[in-house]
Amino acid sequence: MSGAPISGFIFLGPPGAGKGTQAEIIAKKLGLAKIATGDILREAVRNKTRLGKIAEDYMKRGELVPDDLMLSLVKETLRKIKVGFILDGFPRTVRQAEGLQKMLKEEGAELKKVILIDAQDQVIIDRLSKRRVCPKCGAVYNLITNPPKNDEICDRCGSELVTRDDDRPETVKRRLEVYREKTQALIKYYNDKGILFEVDGNGDLNKVFERILEVMT
Ligand code: AMP
Repeated sequence: MSGAPISGFIFLGPPGAGKGTQAEIIAKKLGLAKIATGDILREAVRNKTRLGKIAEDYMKRGELVPDDLMLSLVKETLRKIKVGFILDGFPRTVRQAEGLQKMLKEEGAELKKVILIDAQDQVIIDRLSKRRVCPKCGAVYNLITNPPKNDEICDRCGSELVTRDDDRPETVKRRLEVYREKTQALIKYYNDKGILFEVDGNGDLNKVFERILEVMT
C-alpha cells in the first residue's frame, strides 16, 4: 500500500454463506480489490509453491492454516493494493484479527466495516454440496443458483468443473466446527469495536447482494 490512505471491508461468516461469490460481484461493482485467502492458498497448492505444500494438508482436513503463515501472506498481499479492499476468509482467528489491526495501522489504512453474512447450517450444507469450481481459472458456480451455461463446464475457460476436496460432507462438518471454535469469536471482537454489520445470507443470490450493498454504501 502506498500513497493516499486506503480503507476496506471484511466479509465474515461460515463457509458456504456466500462470502466469496458476493465479494467477487461487489468488489467489481464498487471498484475494490478482493483478497480471498482461500483462493490465494488454492493457487499456491496448484502451483506447488512452498506455501502451497504446507497449506494443502490443513485445507484437505478442513483445518486452519497456521496464523503466522496467514499473517505474512496477507501482509504481502495488502502491500500491493492501491485501492480499497474486501477481505474474504481473513481474519479467521482473533490472533489474525489483531495482526491485521497492526498491519493496517502501520500502513495508515482503515477498516470501514465488517459484514457478517450468516446462513443456516442446512442452507450451507446444501450449497456446498452443489458448489463446483474450475480447477484452471478458479471460477465458482452453484449447480442450482448460479449454474454454468453448459453442463459442468466453465463459462470462462471451458475446463471441466470439479467439486472442491474440502466440500465433501465430512470436511464441511469439520469446517463448520472450526468456524464455531475459532472464527465466531470475531463477531464479538468486531462488535465491540462498533464496526460489525449483520446481513442475512439465506435466500437468493441477488437478494443477498442487495442486502450487503445497502449495508456497505
Ligand atoms: P475458504 O476458501 O475461505 O473456505 O478457505 C479454504 C481453506 O483455506 C480453509 O478451510 C483453510 O484451510 C484455509 N484458509 C483460508 N483462509 C484462511 C485463514 N485466514 N486462516 C487459516 N486458514 C485459512
